Amino acid sequence: MKKILFLMIVVALSVLTLASCAWIGGENECAHEVTMPVGAGKAATCSEEGLTPGKKCADCGTVIEEQTAIAKLDHTIETIPAVEGSCTVKSKTAGEKCSVCGYVTKAPVEGDYKHNPVNVNAKEPTCTEDGYEAGVKCGDCGTVISGMATKPNKGGHDYGDNGKCECGATEGGNQGGNEGGNQGGNEGGNQGGSTESGDQDGIMDTEWDELK
Ligand SMILES: [Zn+2]
Ligand SMILES: [Zn+2]
Ligand SMILES: [Zn+2]
Ligand SMILES: [Zn+2]
Repeated sequence: MKKILFLMIVVALSVLTLASCAWIGGENECAHEVTMPVGAGKAATCSEEGLTPGKKCADCGTVIEEQTAIAKLDHTIETIPAVEGSCTVKSKTAGEKCSVCGYVTKAPVEGDYKHNPVNVNAKEPTCTEDGYEAGVKCGDCGTVISGMATKPNKGGHDYGDNGKCECGATEGGNQGGNEGGNQGGNEGGNQGGSTESGDQDGIMDTEWDELK
């Protein structure tokens, strides 16, 4: 019995001690009257969560309010205008993006260049110029959109025996100086009277051919 009594006294004394301590503002019973942030807070943006600063007692350090995340803000959606396209710029559909952070919420879809199609009739090749099949090309920049395969020229005039091509060109006359050299050796005699090769006789043409 004595032992139990002793214990009871000890317990009673302990309780008294704690109570008196609390009464004079002991460590375990801080009133947390002055508070300060737990850490640096930050506002939420549309691209990053925010954080509350929290609250703790400036005296004893007890955290009264934890720092908590603040949900991201909604993006501020603005329209990315459609691009109509041109001969040099590809078209694009309209899209959407955030005007604050730039995040694209709806990507524009790229299309093709926008030409101004014009139907083109076939052109027959001549003796010296290429022709082409009928097709479609851009009236603005000339880009071939479809068709218009090249029809090769005939590789030069064919004068035959009478010195006149079926296209109407006459030897020496229409050709001028461009092809005079090539002809010299073979047909030099026929050229004598023409204006272009008037000062070239057959011998000179032959020599020129050989030099080449
Ligand atoms: Zn405190
Ligand atoms: Zn945003
Ligand atoms: Zn074009
Ligand atoms: Zn011809």
